[in-house]
Amino acid sequence: MINSREILESFEGRMREFIDGENFKKCIQCGICGGSCPFGFYTDFTPRKIITATRAEIVNEVIESNAPWLCTSCNLCTSRCPSKIPITDALIPVLRELAMNYSHPPDELGQALTNIHRMGNSFGESNKKRTKWSEGIGFPVKVLKKGEHVEYLFIVDDFGSFDLRGQEITKAIAKLFRILGIDFGILGEKEKSIGDHVRLAGEFGLFEEIAKSNINELKNYSFEKIITMDPHAFNSLKNEYPKFNFSKDVIHYTQLIDERLNDIKKILHPLNYTVTYHDPCYLGRKNGIYDAPRRIIESIPGIKFVEMYRNRENSFCCGGGGGGIWYDSYIKKYVKVRPAEERVLEASKTGANVLLVTCPIDAIMFEDAIKVTGLEGKLKVMDISELLLESIGKGV
Ligand code: SF4
Ligand code: SF4
Repeated sequence: MINSREILESFEGRMREFIDGENFKKCIQCGICGGSCPFGFYTDFTPRKIITATRAEIVNEVIESNAPWLCTSCNLCTSRCPSKIPITDALIPVLRELAMNYSHPPDELGQALTNIHRMGNSFGESNKKRTKWSEGIGFPVKVLKKGEHVEYLFIVDDFGSFDLRGQEITKAIAKLFRILGIDFGILGEKEKSIGDHVRLAGEFGLFEEIAKSNINELKNYSFEKIITMDPHAFNSLKNEYPKFNFSKDVIHYTQLIDERLNDIKKILHPLNYTVTYHDPCYLGRKNGIYDAPRRIIESIPGIKFVEMYRNRENSFCCGGGGGGIWYDSYIKKYVKVRPAEERVLEASKTGANVLLVTCPIDAIMFEDAIKVTGLEGKLKVMDISELLLESIGKGV
C-alpha cells in the first residue's frame, strides 16, 4: 500500500529542485492545459487535475493511473499555462519518476530504457551498426578520429541511426551536406543516445549519466558546431547539456540549409506537389524554429505550400515524443484516435499530397498513421531534405 503523505512529500521535494517548480502551487485551475492536451479527453488526470490531487493529498492515485504515461511531452500545455508551471519538463517527469519507483512504467518503455543503459541506444542494437545508414550512399562519410578537425559534427541520434525510415532521412541529409560542400563528420560507433526522451520519461539519474558521458566523449574531438537532424537531440544538447558544463553551438540541419539557400536555389528544379508542414514540438514550440523550414519549402519552384489549421506554436503533437514512440501499444489501449492519426487527417484536409517533416520520429509516426487512416496513395510523408533532393534531381 503506497503511503499518500510520503508520495506527496517526495513530489513536493522534487518539484522544488526545478526552476519555477514550485509554481504548481500557483495554479489558477483555468483548465487551459487539459483543453490543449492531445490526451485531455483520455487521461485520468489532466495537469489541472494533477494539481488538484496534490491539494487533496492524493498524488498516489495519480501515479497509479494512466496520467503519467498519457503525455507525450508536447509542451503545448506549458507554453500556454498562465501560471508558468513547468508541466512538461518537471511536473509530468517527476510523476513518472515516482511512478517508476512506486508503481511501474509501460513494459516497452522499461525495455527501451534498459537498452539505452546497456547498449547506448534505445533499439538494443550493437552500436557498431550506427553507420548502417551510410551504406551505399556513394561517397565516404567521415567517421571522426581523435585529432581530426571538422566544421560540423553531425549527431544522428537513435531514430536516424537504427530505424529503417530514419536511415533514409539521414542519408538524404548527408547527401545534401555533400552537395553543399559542408565539412562534416560523425562519431560512428562512439555516438550514444543523447537522452532527451530519457529525461522526459523521468529517468533523471540515467539522463545525467548519459549527458556527462557524452560530454566527456565529445571532448576527444575537434569541431566547431554540432549539427543534428533530431529535434529532441537538438533540444537536449542546446538546453539541457549546458547544465553539465557543455557549451558548444548546436544547430538543426534546417538552419544550415536555410543559411545556404541562395546556393541551393540555383540547382533546384520545379516539383508538382501541394505540401503542408508539421512543426515538430521540439524544433518549433520548444525552440522557436518556425521560419527556416518554411523558407526552404517556399524556395522550391512549383511547390504549393498550404498551412494546417494548427501550425507554428499551435502545432499538434505526433504522439511520439517523451518516449511515446516506445509504448504506442499502451497508448492505443486508452486512446480512440492517436495524435498522429488526427494529424495526418488534418494534413489531408488541406488538400496537400505531401506532409513534410523535419524529425525522424514524425516520419515514423505519420507513415504508420497514414496506413491506419486509409490515406495511403493520397498523402505521403517526406522529410524536407528528401523533397530538396528530389528537386535537385536524380543522380545525386
Ligand atoms: S494551464 Fe496552468 S494554471 Fe491553468 S489549470 Fe493548467 S496548470 Fe493550472
Ligand atoms: S505536454 Fe502535451 S501531452 Fe503532456 S500534458 Fe501537456 S499538453 Fe498533454
